[in-house]
Amino acid sequence: MEVVYKIATTKKIINSLREKKQSVGLVPTMGALHKGHLSLLDKSVLENDYSIVTIFVNPTQFDKQEDLDNYPNTLKEDLEKLKNTGCDLVFVPNAQEMYQDNISADVFSFDGLEKEMEGKHRAGHFNGVGTIVKRFFEITQPTNAYFGEKDFQQLQIIKKMTAKENLPINIIGCPIYRERDGLAMSSRNMRLSPIHRKAGPFIYETLLAAKEKFASESIVSIHNFVSQAFEKHPLFEMEYFEIADETTLKTATEKKKDTNYRGFIAVYAENIRLIDNISLS
Ligand code: AMP
Repeated sequence: MEVVYKIATTKKIINSLREKKQSVGLVPTMGALHKGHLSLLDKSVLENDYSIVTIFVNPTQFDKQEDLDNYPNTLKEDLEKLKNTGCDLVFVPNAQEMYQDNISADVFSFDGLEKEMEGKHRAGHFNGVGTIVKRFFEITQPTNAYFGEKDFQQLQIIKKMTAKENLPINIIGCPIYRERDGLAMSSRNMRLSPIHRKAGPFIYETLLAAKEKFASESIVSIHNFVSQAFEKHPLFEMEYFEIADETTLKTATEKKKDTNYRGFIAVYAENIRLIDNISLS
């Protein structure tokens, strides 16, 4: 496994792979790796001749400086975890390498996908995501790129960007990997206090209960159920819960035939923001 810090070195390696007609799988991450990240990598290793993991905490996708400053940095442990996984290259650029002296995001239109949920609550977030993923695509020219359904809106946005820009890349969504108790794995979980970590499964349990109700109850009633559950909870503050069409991500107010729905939630545990989602169909 090679660890590379420079764009030029990565491009050279990619060029030689392309000459040999090898397929390349890309797994972009912000590090603080956990089993969720590694599940994406496992799939890439199975499906490609060569697998690349990128580790880069992208400043332009953070709307709060405090969140960026507190984002865990565990590079040494990350590289250790990647050994013996089948990962061929870890690309670890710094901000200067990715942005030169201009740390700013390009502006994208994702046909409205960026205006829903996370887009409403994290100003500019998806412009930052689009900017960095597009650059990683340009540098690594992957055959297949792997993204988690944990960030379902991000996954749909990357699919949209790839289609709109006609990029010859397959975007592959991977299921949410959970802790044994149901909490969706996240790099942010390591910052939870023991009491919040212990209470963590409540988020998924509430989503599961919403899923069960979806077959028989109205969307309004499920909304009320989830909101009330979090109002009563002493440790979590709900930022939003939305039931949305999986493809358009538009908020649903009533159930339509032949439409797949998902429940999306964002919750604060003190100052740590957690997101999760569940298929309702
Ligand atoms: P991040 O490092 O949080 O930016 O995540 C990098 C990639 O890993 C993204 O495509 C995420 O959606 C994915 N990911 C993060 N957590 C999980 C999880 N629990 N299960 C599956 N994929 C995940």
